[in-house]
Amino acid sequence: MLEERIAELVKNRYHKRVEEASDKELYEVLLCYTKEELSRLPRIEGEKKLYYISAEFLIGKLLSNNLINLGIYEEAEAFLKSCGRSLCAIEEAEPEPSLGNGGLGRLAACFLDSIATLGLCGDGIGLNYHMGLFKQVFEEHKQQEYPNPWMEEESWLLDTGVSFQVPFRDFTLTSRMYDLDVSGYNNGRNRLHLFDVESVDESIIEDGITFDKTQVAKNLTLFLYPDDSDKAGNLLRIYQQYFMVSSAAQLILKECKDRGVSLRKLHEHVAIQINDTHPSMVIPELIRLLVQEQIDFNEAVEIVQKTCAYTNHTILAEALEKWPLSYLEQVAPQIVPIIKELDLRMKGRYQDPKVAIIDDQNRVHMAHMDIHYGYSVNGVAALHTDILKHSELKPFYDIYPEKFNNKTNGITFRRWLLHCNRELTAWIEKRIGSGFKENAEELEGLMAFAGDEAALQSLLEVKQQKKQELADYLEKTQDLILDPKSIYDIQIKRLHEYKRQQMNALYAIYKYLKIKGGEKPKTPITMIFGAKAAPAYLIAKDIIHLILCLQELISNDPEVSPYLKVVMVENYNVTMAEHLIPACDISEQISLASKEASGTGNMKFMLNGAVTLGTEDGANVEIHELVGDDNIYIFGASSERVMAHYENHDYRAADYYIEDEEIRTLLNFIISPEMMKIGDPYHLLRIHAELIQKDWFMTLLDVKEYIQVKEKAYEDYEERLRWSKKMLVNIAKAGYFSSDRTIAQYNQDIWKLR
Ligand SMILES: *Cc1c(COP(=O)(O)O)cnc(C)c1O
Repeated sequence: MLEERIAELVKNRYHKRVEEASDKELYEVLLCYTKEELSRLPRIEGEKKLYYISAEFLIGKLLSNNLINLGIYEEAEAFLKSCGRSLCAIEEAEPEPSLGNGGLGRLAACFLDSIATLGLCGDGIGLNYHMGLFKQVFEEHKQQEYPNPWMEEESWLLDTGVSFQVPFRDFTLTSRMYDLDVSGYNNGRNRLHLFDVESVDESIIEDGITFDKTQVAKNLTLFLYPDDSDKAGNLLRIYQQYFMVSSAAQLILKECKDRGVSLRKLHEHVAIQINDTHPSMVIPELIRLLVQEQIDFNEAVEIVQKTCAYTNHTILAEALEKWPLSYLEQVAPQIVPIIKELDLRMKGRYQDPKVAIIDDQNRVHMAHMDIHYGYSVNGVAALHTDILKHSELKPFYDIYPEKFNNKTNGITFRRWLLHCNRELTAWIEKRIGSGFKENAEELEGLMAFAGDEAALQSLLEVKQQKKQELADYLEKTQDLILDPKSIYDIQIKRLHEYKRQQMNALYAIYKYLKIKGGEKPKTPITMIFGAKAAPAYLIAKDIIHLILCLQELISNDPEVSPYLKVVMVENYNVTMAEHLIPACDISEQISLASKEASGTGNMKFMLNGAVTLGTEDGANVEIHELVGDDNIYIFGASSERVMAHYENHDYRAADYYIEDEEIRTLLNFIISPEMMKIGDPYHLLRIHAELIQKDWFMTLLDVKEYIQVKEKAYEDYEERLRWSKKMLVNIAKAGYFSSDRTIAQYNQDIWKLR
């Protein structure tokens, strides 16, 4: 069946045999074939349906993910191999849809996979950005941004023909719905609905990723999260958000009517998950539409309140959206009186200005609206939810303790183990069978092999193979040369000061100076970074510059380069993560305690047998509890201590710089003559000054303990079998972080789908 159909498609389209077609042509044929197979899967149905609304779905490449979920990966691979072709090489031809920034968007993608895998009826709703997250290129040791188109003639998108009218103040736009089929692992399918505007015009893109932000009809879905450092950028984001939620609300009500559901009973048939505050306007929009359907305003509010649930992803103040009422007035004035009324009702009940929806500067606090007018508020890791309850959102927790709940994030093992690490998957299967693929908790069975030397030895061999593969891949794609015999120490995630890539860079300086002084590591070290900085985030870009300058300096120093290598991979994205994670020895999770809500990169690494070096932050806390002290390297100030520093305003980076000679040496190296010769003095001076004068995320508070604990990890790495046991324990305990578990909990506590 598969063989014949694929051969037939290749023949019909390209008048070739499989052996003769290019990888790109074979990709297109496999795309077409997989879409046919997906369309044959039964739709998952249910009396109650979930709509997961998110401004981001960082889905990554879809071919192998779908082949795996359809259960035909092996068959396809074997057939292609018999024709002398490699499925891996064909996968390379697929463009990555980077429709998200980082963890939050990737989480949404993992959730869709798990929702379908558990057979729950639930669709995603988002926007069809023509350009995903920018493509990052390094030029003169600096990040440059370029547009990142992903839709080709042939793509995963299906044009549904469904469209809605979205009314803005000055014009109305037609939104058109495109669908992606979302397959469950050995299960049916749900859909991801991505809304688009017909009138988008890619020709308005100017230099790099700049464009005229005022031409809304032409740019609305052109870019993911355009730069919002100015007013036009902010307005465009509100246009995008309202477009998304109005389309969503109209779709939800239409589907209810089609199913014969009375809108008065909406909440019995629909759950809406609001992923961060970007979709929050769905609350007033749904109320508006229900009132249009002749439902009384009070009843509409009640219905919506019983339907919507909100997930909080951050406590960083700058990420909690507060839109000036005047902006909303300018974009979608029809929802403004509704928001004002919702606000008045709450002001009538609660005098505390901290729980107001509209503040004294006439800004709308989107999260506050979600909490008052939704039925559930969840954090994304135990520590994060605790901080929400007892500090960030305490005034709300005091009012609505029953609404607050925790849902520790998870990842889909189909992509982050079965697909990206077939060797490790086979290694596990050989020992505990294949039940873990559907029941991740079965990984725990690996603990029986913790004392099995042969098993531990072969686990090291699997890791070695993945390290070699990464070296080959980076040489081929980025001209980077890695030593597969070195320790791979990896930090990949968005660039942000709170994630503290700068602290890891200070370690590179420390080690460089040590080696210069004659202290050579037993095993060479490869420090790998991958990170994009938001285009307007200057300090983040300075940190990239610092890392790239260190990379250059060290690689050109023959005294040091045999022992230490710093590499920053270009354009870190899901595809790159899939190559890096299986090869990692040490996973860097070093955010300032209390700042990383959960992290999911930490989970991917653990599952692939990397040992975590991290702070007690986000889900690291839960990883620590699961694997125990011996199988993780923990350092740094506790979240309580960090929060006390913020409260008391008593952290002064300059004190550390002045009083500690070692710290002073590391910092001053940033502006040493050898660095200034390679880099741009303006940027190096700025990051140097920033770390001494501000250091808002307390790098210097933790840097010395960080260095010490990292040295200990490198020392322990030398005892190969003992290290392998740590790897094994990490894999065995990773089952808890399957997004199947997370989704089962969302369903049990929040959605209650039947
Ligand atoms: C998992 C993932 C993230 C999130 O990583 P964190 O370390 O949790 O911040 C970001 N980007 C990509 C491409 C990912 O795959």
